[in-house]
Amino acid sequence: ADLNVIAARTPGMVGADLANIVNESALLAVRRNAGQVQMRDLEEAIDRVMLGLEKKNRVMTASDKERVAYHETGHALVALSLDNAVPVHRVSIIPRSVGALGHTLQLPTEERYLMTLPELEDQIAVMMGGRAAEESVYNGVISTGAADDLQRASELIRQIVMRFGMSSRLGNLTYGAPHNAQFLRFPFMPEERNYSEKTSEAIDDEVRRISDRLYLRAKEILTNRRAELERIARELIQKETLDRPQIELLLLPELKQSPA
Ligand code: ZN
Repeated sequence: ADLNVIAARTPGMVGADLANIVNESALLAVRRNAGQVQMRDLEEAIDRVMLGLEKKNRVMTASDKERVAYHETGHALVALSLDNAVPVHRVSIIPRSVGALGHTLQLPTEERYLMTLPELEDQIAVMMGGRAAEESVYNGVISTGAADDLQRASELIRQIVMRFGMSSRLGNLTYGAPHNAQFLRFPFMPEERNYSEKTSEAIDDEVRRISDRLYLRAKEILTNRRAELERIARELIQKETLDRPQIELLLLPELKQSPA
């Protein structure tokens, strides 16, 4: 088993969590009559904890399945194309119980405690990759499938502007003060506004500008790599899951990402 992959996939887990995963993987190995626990058992055990059970019996129409395949391939291809994105480990269109119709799994090569602005930006572009792929492939007809991605991206962009002080327009300042929990009257309002109406508009503009710019970054990559988008998505529809080496076989030689 590749312990680096296990470690990268289980950040922050304590010994008891890992013991559960090892037990679960042993059960999986027994269930498929294998003599020993293999990497696939360990990975599936981690997937069950992180992503929920596979819902292979969920019936999806062929057109939904195709759309999910393009969507996930969009994430993967954008991640493969950007130097500061977290490397792709696997892409799958097998629905899991935790909401998702498919997933693109990225694994950091080392544990990180800080993120730079270029890393945050590339990561947001990866989040935009699903919607961008759908828009490209289906001639502008987009779906609800990107809701989760867009929520995470919006949240991160707001943090870039309001919490990390990374927007030159808004400066090295934070915006919004945490409510004093004792006097919390609106549980859904996380922060107190400590800035002017004018600044509020500037924040909205800046968030929108960053979002548009990073969406464009994703869209351009997928336009340039349209042939690979098609190849990988078609293979994904057949196989349902592709891991990194399988994806790399489908990339055009001249565009291969330098090894992560
Ligand atoms: Zn997505």
